[in-house]
Amino acid sequence: MVFTNKFEVIRTLMFLIKNLKYFKFKFLIPSEYLDNINKLEPELLRKKGIDTIIWDVEGTITEYRGKISDKENKFLTKFKGFNNYILTNAPEEMCNELSNALPEIPIITGYYHILKKKVIIRKIINHKKIYVLVENNKQIAIKKPINKLNIQRIRKPSVLLLKKVLFIENITPKNSVMIGDNTITDIFPANYLGMFTIQIKPPTNATSFPLTLRMLRHCEYILVWIFKLIKK
Ligand SMILES: [Mg+2]
Repeated sequence: MVFTNKFEVIRTLMFLIKNLKYFKFKFLIPSEYLDNINKLEPELLRKKGIDTIIWDVEGTITEYRGKISDKENKFLTKFKGFNNYILTNAPEEMCNELSNALPEIPIITGYYHILKKKVIIRKIINHKKIYVLVENNKQIAIKKPINKLNIQRIRKPSVLLLKKVLFIENITPKNSVMIGDNTITDIFPANYLGMFTIQIKPPTNATSFPLTLRMLRHCEYILVWIFKLIKK
């Protein structure tokens, strides 16, 4: 587990280094902050013309590696009138659990086909796994990629991943919102693509997150703080 967390930190740092040329501090600032997810009201989003919600899970709806219980299910029911999606970096096992708890909400993960050099988007909905590859701006439904050696998972904060999700699902950025707890993984790519963004203070117990991830979060706070200081 500790090993996996270190990987998450390394991945985020690698991302920052690789994407430095696209990086702007302003992309780290969400359109809105909310200190409690339960304060989020559907009406507030509707007034802004939002029809689509892309949710982060861990730290936003549940704790780290948390489960969807009746409480979370009831909360999400309030947003039934929207097109809801979950875009998560959680491991496969948790994606399956999420889908069992919320069969009607597409659980989205991304992969990169190394040989084809294309992004594959996988959607789990109503217990079915659908894989879609985008080639020359056309969507091609594919069977489950059999050779695992040729594919690797891609995760937030990949701008490419979110861009393909918006394309495949026909989502207009300005009519959609990304709701997440993490500045770099959730807020950055969504702001970059022109979505509305809401950053949530992690619910109930931030200490459910491993120390390495909490430290990364502090680094994010410092980055944002520096930016605000420069802007003044
Ligand atoms: Mg999160």
